[in-house]
Amino acid sequence: MRLFAIFGNPVAHSLSPLLHNAVFTRLGWPDRYIRERLDDGVAIRKCFETFGLSGANITVPFKEEAAQLCDRVEGVAAVVGAVNTIVREGDRLIGYNTDAPGFWASLEGFAPKTALILGAGGTARALAAILKEQGSAVTVLNRSAERLEFFRHLGLAVATWEAFAPSKYELVVNTTSAGLTDQELPAPKAPLRSVLGEATRAYEVIYGRETPFMALAREIDLPVQDGKAMLVWQAVLAQRLFTDPPISNDEMAKLMFNAMELL
Ligand code: NDP
Repeated sequence: MRLFAIFGNPVAHSLSPLLHNAVFTRLGWPDRYIRERLDDGVAIRKCFETFGLSGANITVPFKEEAAQLCDRVEGVAAVVGAVNTIVREGDRLIGYNTDAPGFWASLEGFAPKTALILGAGGTARALAAILKEQGSAVTVLNRSAERLEFFRHLGLAVATWEAFAPSKYELVVNTTSAGLTDQELPAPKAPLRSVLGEATRAYEVIYGRETPFMALAREIDLPVQDGKAMLVWQAVLAQRLFTDPPISNDEMAKLMFNAMELL
């Protein structure tokens, strides 16, 4: 039996065990996936030894620390400095970021030429990196200036709320935590309404609730999707890295969506 875990703080709300165990159950494998709340990300390496883990997912607030403690960091995880998936190879821990390709897969073939990302945190970094890699012209809009430096270095257009001159973007993505536990919009209403009015699709990374950003998009009849498919696809891609199961990614995604429906 192989054991996998998700590390975070808080982590009690995490649906990752449900998603990954649905795959193990379908395959009749004895492998299991658990969640573990940590006070300190430094403990991740020790936990791998103590529990004899084969792999793990990492969530808030340890993704950056996880990138530091891996022996090797692959692909987009190295660009953004954030790891959400660790695979053990012998004594070595290899870090990946499946949030970024998971987000891309969740777009289901929609490849925006222009994208506006609201927010400049860890999720914004992952999304900006994959959108840029896939050929989108990306602009990042954030409340404050400090976190925009990373995106400027990546060669992207950046703006704070004060300096923002709205333009036309096919995709507008909210990666801020505005709307997660409050009723706030991720940016001032007038410019936000203006960019949504010109967009083809709105995307909210939060899932499980209708946020003010989603409500605003619906108000103007703009198609909007929430973060559920991104959650599922990052898990599908992590599972592929963990165990390379003998079923397709689409079949895994279907199993995971079904598991969430049963909640
Ligand atoms: P971070 O803490 O790294 O970044 C938060 C960002 O939100 C910052 O840019 C911050 O701006 C901005 N922000 C916070 N509050 C407000 C507000 N009231 N108004 C405007 N901007 C605000 O967060 P993460 O990137 O780790 O996570 C962001 C969201 O993504 C969370 O809601 C999380 O649940 C979700 N998520 C979803 C996933 C999925 O699979 N669907 C995967 C990962 C995350 P400033 O710099 O000015 O402080």
